[in-house]
Amino acid sequence: MASLRSRLALALIKKKLPEIVAADPVAELGDGLHVAIVGSGSPLPDEKRGNPCVAVIAGGKVYVVDAGEGASETLNRMGIDAGRIELLFLTHFHSDHIGGLGSVNLQRWVAEGSDTPMRVLGPPGVEEVVAGYNEAYRLDRGYRTAHHGEDFVDPAIGAMVPEEFPVPGPGESNVVLDQDGLVVTAFEVDHSPVAPVVGFRFDYQGRSAVISADTVYTENLVAAAKDTDLLVHDALSEELLLMVARAQTEAGHQARGKILADVTDYHATAPQAADAAQKARARALAITHIVPPLPLKGLEEVFLADAPDRFDGPLWMANDGDLYSLPVAGGLTRTNLIRRRR
Ligand SMILES: [Zn+2]
Ligand SMILES: [Zn+2]
Repeated sequence: MASLRSRLALALIKKKLPEIVAADPVAELGDGLHVAIVGSGSPLPDEKRGNPCVAVIAGGKVYVVDAGEGASETLNRMGIDAGRIELLFLTHFHSDHIGGLGSVNLQRWVAEGSDTPMRVLGPPGVEEVVAGYNEAYRLDRGYRTAHHGEDFVDPAIGAMVPEEFPVPGPGESNVVLDQDGLVVTAFEVDHSPVAPVVGFRFDYQGRSAVISADTVYTENLVAAAKDTDLLVHDALSEELLLMVARAQTEAGHQARGKILADVTDYHATAPQAADAAQKARARALAITHIVPPLPLKGLEEVFLADAPDRFDGPLWMANDGDLYSLPVAGGLTRTNLIRRRR
């Protein structure tokens, strides 16, 4: 005999299930540019933040920037249907930005309405990464087509299609996509010794958003982000990261201590991200790629340091699930798609 608790749980889920599977928050968004933070963390394991991934929504289509581990799961928790993914951009090929690529493509492939392979646009290196994922998932595609039939999982669209674009020179922005009123430009940022690394600017119906990718403060980004409505910038806290590095070293974990200390030289700090936003005259700033994890709420202030004083506009620490909406009519609203669904 099932317990009362299990019978109640079953009744509840039966009642809610049709609403859950039919939910399509993207369809409810008004016309405008919408920026959804899917993963606001880094490669460091963080119970609150997934690996980097941002979804930009314009005209009902979803454009994904990077696909860190957990990206497809979080997109699902946010209610963003993988079948709406138009294409995917990669900023660079660090593992935390590509680790979820196979899973995002799989979810899109089997989604209702997908009838083209997923294009993956990136700087030189994108062909090698995409070919590797396509090869690693080749057997899986075969199993699924054999099991469910070609009418449901079409083998012709299962593999991703890489599209390489040239790295823009200093001070340049190259248009990498111009369709359905959306213009996406790429610009080089400074994540050295890692190169190439590009950030992206999205312009749609007079609204704009800039995704910095992984970078230190760079004038290239400031130029590309001129007067943008929303700058999404990476940041780390040198003070907190060095504290973790020292603790690792003192615990005898020399390699971890060294790797963590090395990381401080190729990301901006929050005050530097604020300086970039201020100089670019961005209207709002969302800080993401949070390094290190901040297990206590009080550490957010330590992380930000004097960043809020250095930027005139609103400044937020991004969370997984955050949605920044820039309606065509103007303004900026902020919500969280994961919390809203609970
Ligand atoms: Zn990186
Ligand atoms: Zn990264």
